[in-house]
Amino acid sequence: MVIWNAVFKTLGPRSIRYLKWLSYVPVLPDILRRRFPPRQWSSKELKVPGNLLTTPGIQRNAETEEQAFQRQPLHDFFTLHPEVAEFVTKYELGYMMTPRLLRSVRRVQGAADRTREKSRGESSTLSSAEVTQRTRAEAARLGLSAIGFAPRDPKYTFSEHTGTQGETIIVCILEQDYDDTQKAPSVTAEQAAYRCCADTGERTAKLSSFLQNLGYAAIPHSIVGQGIAIHYAVQAGLGQLGLNGQLLTPAAGSRVRIMLISTDALLVHDRPVDFGISGLCDQCQVCVRRCPVGAIPQSRQLHRGVLKSKINTKRCLPIVVKADGCAVCTKVCPVQRFGLTQVLERYTQTGRILGKGSDELEGYDWPLDRRHYGPESTPRVGGELFTELDFDPTRTEPPKKGNGLNIMG
Ligand code: SF4
Ligand code: SF4
Repeated sequence: MVIWNAVFKTLGPRSIRYLKWLSYVPVLPDILRRRFPPRQWSSKELKVPGNLLTTPGIQRNAETEEQAFQRQPLHDFFTLHPEVAEFVTKYELGYMMTPRLLRSVRRVQGAADRTREKSRGESSTLSSAEVTQRTRAEAARLGLSAIGFAPRDPKYTFSEHTGTQGETIIVCILEQDYDDTQKAPSVTAEQAAYRCCADTGERTAKLSSFLQNLGYAAIPHSIVGQGIAIHYAVQAGLGQLGLNGQLLTPAAGSRVRIMLISTDALLVHDRPVDFGISGLCDQCQVCVRRCPVGAIPQSRQLHRGVLKSKINTKRCLPIVVKADGCAVCTKVCPVQRFGLTQVLERYTQTGRILGKGSDELEGYDWPLDRRHYGPESTPRVGGELFTELDFDPTRTEPPKKGNGLNIMG
């Protein structure tokens, strides 16, 4: 990674030309590099205290959701904000352009292209229950941590992809390296995130090929995606939305990568679940207090008909890019650190949030001044960090000029 960083810093934007070639550079076999083998999550029943229960999935107002969609369909973030794509590319190229990630992008694209050539095979003879069971078994064999199935929803599909095939979205989740993530914010943690992204893509492409071989259309989405991944993950019962704006899974909090597949396979859809996460966030608020730039609000508001914590991206994004991915809000989350089962057990016994107030959970080393900040202190972040990226987060229509840097497939 250090070598790729140096190469791309030297070549600058010219390096974009070599991306396809780089995706063919051999990478270290999994068996030699893996310190954190993927684990498949068990579906153990959680005991959620009654006072933490709110609603399965996310609280929403269906009428307002529909009105927002009719008024203003969604676009993917980088199409809407090409200046952010350029900013991210400028600083993160060395992380993104590893042969492993590029190979994953190429394989996802290859699997997406192949689906159009497939004819009907075994699919007509399989029942929904059979294809669902076989898809879950294959996902486990491939080493995905969890998968779930949700109905495709035009409201959460980016308007660039409305022609997408199939009525089902398969949500593929892979857990990210535990030890490396606890070092966030750092180069080590950022590398773990991109590595996990590449591995998720590889497995998602293989799961798509599996369905194609059964005779179904199965289109894996690129890293940027064709819809809101968190929405589908919540609808598939794989987690709930945390105050940090991310999907919190019971097993690993937001220490995960999510990728989607659109398919016409007749899969049995999962349902949203109340894991007690929304109630827990209200009691916890650790990420709100520990975010170095105060980008996480204390409470949720209705946004496009969905009750959610709206992260201040004008403050967050420059920090993510300049402070080694930041991810303080992932690192300090007790669900990420200890898993929801332990957090709920401690809450049931004591009424307290496991780890809250401790340096182990809340402390972090800040890469911009190389100092450690314990639970009672946060770094000072200079205003100059925010001046380079000028974008309007309230924009609802893409500007005329595209970004021309479609590096994520
Ligand atoms: S990534 Fe960092 S700046 Fe952004 S919300 Fe999380 S803690 Fe705050
Ligand atoms: S740190 Fe606490 S408030 Fe923030 S997402 Fe995690 S559980 Fe929720």
